[in-house]
Order: sequence, then structure tokens, then C-alpha cells
Amino acid sequence: MTTLHNLGFPRIGARRELKQAQEAYWAGTLQQSELEHVGRSLRERHWALQAQAGIDLLPVGDFAWYDQILEFSCLLGVVPARFGQDADADVDLDTLFRMARGRAPTGTPAAACEMTKWFDTNYHYIVPELAVDQSFRIARESLFEQVEEAKALGHDPKPVIPGPLTYLYLSKGEDFDGADDSAKLALLETLIPVYRRILQRLADQGVQWVQIDEPILVLDLPDAWQRAYLRVYDQLAAASTARLLLATYFGALKNNLFTALELPVAGLHLDRVRGDDDLEQVISRLGDKVLSLGYINGRNIWRTDLDAALATLKPLKEALGDRLWLAPSCSLLHSPVDLDQEDKLDTELKSWLSFAKQKLDELALLGGALDGDAAAEAGLQAQREALRARSESTRIHNPAVAERIGASGDLSRDRLSPFAERIAKQQDALKLPAFPTTTIGSFPQTREIREARRDWKAGKLDDAAYTEQMKQEIARCIRYQEEVELDVLVHGEAERNDMVEYFGELLEGFAFTRFGWVQSYGSRCVKPPIIFGDVRRPNPMTVEWARYAQSLTDKPVKGMLTGPVTILQWSFVRDDQPRSETCKQIALALRDEVRDLENAGIKVIQIDEPALREGLPLRQGEWQAYLDWAVDCFRLATVGVDDDTQIHTHMCYSEFNDIIEAIAALDADVITIETSRSNMELLDAFRDFQYPNDIGPGVYDIHSPNEPDVAWMVGLMEKAAERLPKERLWVNPDCGLKTRKWEETQGALANMVAAAKQLRTA
Ligand code: GLN
Ligand code: ZN
Repeated sequence: MTTLHNLGFPRIGARRELKQAQEAYWAGTLQQSELEHVGRSLRERHWALQAQAGIDLLPVGDFAWYDQILEFSCLLGVVPARFGQDADADVDLDTLFRMARGRAPTGTPAAACEMTKWFDTNYHYIVPELAVDQSFRIARESLFEQVEEAKALGHDPKPVIPGPLTYLYLSKGEDFDGADDSAKLALLETLIPVYRRILQRLADQGVQWVQIDEPILVLDLPDAWQRAYLRVYDQLAAASTARLLLATYFGALKNNLFTALELPVAGLHLDRVRGDDDLEQVISRLGDKVLSLGYINGRNIWRTDLDAALATLKPLKEALGDRLWLAPSCSLLHSPVDLDQEDKLDTELKSWLSFAKQKLDELALLGGALDGDAAAEAGLQAQREALRARSESTRIHNPAVAERIGASGDLSRDRLSPFAERIAKQQDALKLPAFPTTTIGSFPQTREIREARRDWKAGKLDDAAYTEQMKQEIARCIRYQEEVELDVLVHGEAERNDMVEYFGELLEGFAFTRFGWVQSYGSRCVKPPIIFGDVRRPNPMTVEWARYAQSLTDKPVKGMLTGPVTILQWSFVRDDQPRSETCKQIALALRDEVRDLENAGIKVIQIDEPALREGLPLRQGEWQAYLDWAVDCFRLATVGVDDDTQIHTHMCYSEFNDIIEAIAALDADVITIETSRSNMELLDAFRDFQYPNDIGPGVYDIHSPNEPDVAWMVGLMEKAAERLPKERLWVNPDCGLKTRKWEETQGALANMVAAAKQLRTA
């Protein structure tokens, strides 16, 4: 029988039990022993569920209190000095939490470790911090304990650990220059012996297979890193009596494929959803290794076309026999937990979907069918039927949308006039001072606002009462901005739960789950909408709110929209057409909204694209194609306005060097960005490129409750003015204010406006 295994299961729990327990523990209302208990019962439940589905080898080590890379750093004793870790003692749970969040119920607070995106997913890991003379040791027992735990429950555990090269690549250190600095490779000498000890201990526990994750093999690796593989794995293989399964995911191995195939490991896993390495080539160089293939998508929520997978798998099975294994494409960490809980989704839509638990059933079905199990036929038939129904559903295909997309090639992608002419007309129309001030859109989402929305959604507050309350919030927000003398006002986004969900709920083609949570980082989870069909805007979405806000003031109020790439990036996207097509549909819907806002008298319109950079493919060779369609969609959405309507965009990250050309190609009249923490240095990219349009470099960090100082903000703007013409500069915070309290916001914005006034008189 074909061996089935899983690369990882979501740890949060079907009802986010882990989140609740962690947060209660941090708040001091749950004992550590109670927290441990929640963790243990989640592991037990998840293993049982996988075993019941028919999975042979169960992942252990995929559970993490905060993040799996952080767990492994603690296992290796990689704890930065500021956390005061005793060099001989084990790393305890509170130290782990202090590394993640800066504080824990015990121990002295210290600056938290950096967090960054896990490849091109929306998951974030805690970046290991390494010194040049970093020492490693086995400093935490939880992995070994969890192996015992799984064994005691009668399971066959397959520990999952990050591979040494991936671990080093993902780490940083003052003495290292970027992810791929080959100086890090010198640490292998001390790191490998500890890996050997870990593998030996696992083997001593009776473990047969260890999954060792090396996802960096799907990246463009410098030679030194690629060459290190053979050396490292020779040493690891020699140490261990457990067999190593090298797992790769998120893409094809391409130029790293032969390297992976040469390694002295017992098995290799390839992602067949995002990877398209030539399987004939793989087989011809596989030797006696196990080949594990992932056809079930760990990163999206659609049922798999099992017939298509079987067509490839059957001849492979002939060739490889028991050496062919099956798994999901990557860890199911990136999938919601269980579709069965979705009692509000209609049965038709539900029949197209698969969450982590259902994916395991799909995997078992695929395995059964491959083994010629007669019982699999009924399951396959049902799957086929669901897929056919989906592909033919009139809910997915809207001829009007298809027609519009067909004709969209003829739509202009250019504003009527070049920026220099536009900005002159805009200045005439808007009459703004030098160093104009504005904010990024949201104002504090108070408890009253959230309660009103909850009551309204529960039917306890009627539409009229809800609208009235939101209008009062908007009025308060406008009044405040006038008082503090901001120049371009916003309505404050009180009516929005979330910048993507809000639009998804007003567009056709989107569906929402009740429990479709996916871990983003630590205890934070997101619930991405599902884009299942053609996107259409049945009605204007923001116009009435904007019109109301503008009616309250003579100052310009910015219309506020989420951009097409960001809506795409933060959703589960249909897999039956290219992402670029879906993005274009969203762009066309937004184009109508932009025009309607303009017609309603809104002279400034902002289209947020904070996720533009996240969409970058893992391989640089694929960047341009992505940026081309991303920029095209932004322009499609925004260019249909008159010269004197001012288009803003906003991005809250601080790396623009390598995409500055695309940023300029957006041709937004004004871009506001996050800069306060980088001391304006990121503006070098704009200076070097001679970026022509207006820029608002954020002057204070909205993540901090501290009140920014006037002189400090003036200083930052002076630094900005050394890099860019001061006529082009705006003054604004780094991002939206929705997570701040009103008291904090008031102090901060008053100081910001004071700073702008000071700059004007200088
Ligand atoms: N307009 C949004 C806000 O102010 C932008 C949020 C973001 O950049 N993530 O909240
Ligand atoms: Zn932002």
C-alpha cells in the first residue's frame, strides 16, 4: 500500500483554542500547566484525526507555542544574550515567549526578536539571531517529549525539523549581511554535530523517519549554498540510523534539483502544486530513494482534481512501487482546519472546498485509488462530480464579466496628462499648503464601533440605526481633523471591519467562512475571504459614506479603497484561471468605484496596496511578469479620472529598492509609505531613481502608543528633504490609526501638524 504522510497540521485548533489559551496565559489568567494541557490535547486530537484519516506517518514537531522556527531556535539554544539565558539550563517556555513578544509572565522584558514572512505565505516566523561565534546545544526537550507522547498514543511519529541550511539561511546576525551571506556557512561546523545528536536521539527513541525541511531549495541559491548541501548531508546521513526525508515545498527545485537528488538521504518530497520539475528526470536520478509527491494543495482551499493526479501517478507507481509516497504539497499550516464546521456556507459551495481535515481524506482517497482499492471508486466519482459542478456553475461564470475582461485591452492605462501637468491642476483645485498633512485612512476602531457592528450583524441593530451610528463616528472624525488642522481629511473607516473583507462582502464572487482561520503569527490568525467566481460590483461600495463625509467639510476628503493586488493577496483565490485574470476583474470593479467617487465630488482617492510586495514570486526571474500585471491592474483601476482628481496609494513596508521601477510605474500622484523606523534611509531608493511624483514618508510609527515628538518629526522630514524636492513631500503617519486609542491619536496628530507648520516657515 502506498505510504501516506503529512508534512504538518495546523496547530491553532478548529476553534482557535491555542490562541485563546496563549492569550489567557500571557494575560495571567491561565496557569502554565493549564496551557500545557491545551497544547497536549490539541496534539492528541490532531494526531488522532490524521490517523483516522489513514495517514501512516504523523508529523511531530509541527506543533509550536508561537512558531516552529522559534521552537527550533530554542531546541538549539539559540537565545540572544539580552534574554539572560543561562548557558547550561534548558530554555523554558517563558523565555520562548519573551523572544517572540518581548515579555512573558516571568522573566525580564527585552526587545522581541524580529518576525518576517515565511517565504511567500502570510505566515510569519521568528528570525533566529546568530552571533559569529554562535554555539549550539540541545537546550529544550519538547521535540523528544512529543515523540514519546505520540508513541504513547500508539502513533508512528515522523519528527519534522528545519534543515540546517534552511535554518541558517532564514537567520540573521549583526555580523552577517543578508540571508544568503556565505559567512553563515562557517557556523555549520558547530551546528552539524548538534544536528547529529538530535538525529541520534530521535533514532534512539525508535523513530524510523525524520522529515528535514529544506524549502530554500526552491529559491535562487548562490553557489556556495548549493555546494554546501552535499557536504552537510553526507555528515548527517552518516550519523543517523533514522532515515531522512528531505522535504521541499512552495516551488520547483529547478537548478537545485540535481543537488537534491544527489544527497545521501532516504527520501525526497516535491511540491507538485507549485513545482513542475520534470519527473522523468527525477526518476532517472532518484537511485533507491523514496519519492514523496504533493498534489493536494496545502495553501488553498479547493478540492483536488484527483483524476489528473492519478494520471501522472499511475505510471510512477509502476516504476517505483512502494517507493512512491503521497503527502499534501506543503504543511497544512496554511489551510483552515475543518470545513465541517461551516454551517453557514451553502452545500454547493462547500462541495467544492477542502480544509486541512478534508485534505487528509483526499489524500487517503488518492492513495486508495492508486492502490486499486475498489472502495475508492465511489469517492473518486463524488469528487469528479463536485469538480464538474464547480466548473460548470453559473455562480462562477458571469458572461458580463467575461465580456468586460475581453474588452479591457482597449481601456486606457494612462492618465490624461503627465504628472507635472496633473499636479499643477490638482494644486489649483485643492489649494494645499506646502508639506500638506494627511493620514492613511483609518481612525481608532473603538469598542463602541465594534459592538455596533457585532449587534448589526447579529440582527440586534437595524440598518438605519447602524448607519446613523457610523455617521456619527464619521462626523466626529471629520470634526476632529478640522480642529487639529489636517489638510486632506479621511472619513476614518469606522464602517469597515477589515480592509479586504469589507470590499469582498460588497462584491460578487466572494464567500466568507465562519471558522476558516489560518495562523498569521503567534496567536494572530486571519480569515481570508474565498474568491470563488467572477468578480463584479453590483452597486457602489463606498460612495455614500464618502459623500457624507465630504458634505461636512470644505477641506478635501480622501476616498478610500483597497487595491486589486491587496484584495487578491489576502484572499483564497480561485484556481481555475490565472491570478492575474482574477486581479483584473477586481481592478475593473474598482475602476467603476473610482469613477463614481469622482462623480460624487471626491477630489482625492486613495487605493491602498500594502500587499503589492508580498506577491513577488520566490524566484527573481518571475518578478517582472508579476509586476507587469500587478501594475497594469493598479493602473486599470485608477487612471479613469480627470487630471485634477488626485490619486494616492499607500504601502506599509520599507523595502523599495528592488521594485522602485514598478512603484513609479503605478503613477500614483501621491504615495504614502512606512519610513519612520528606517530614519528616512529607504528614501534613497526614491532619490536614486529620481522618483518624480509626490511622496508622504511616514513620520511616526503607529504601532507604538508613544507620542511622537515635534522636533523629531521635523528632523525626519529634513532628512527626507535632503533626498527629495521638498515641493514633493507630504507629512503623514506610517499607516492607519485603527489599532490606536483616541487619546494617543490626538496627541500624535497634533504634534505632526505642528511639525508640518514648522517646516513651512523654515
Ligand atoms: N487605509 C488603511 C488604514 O488606514 C490602510 C491599512 C494598511 O495599509 N494596511 O487602515
Ligand atoms: Zn499601511
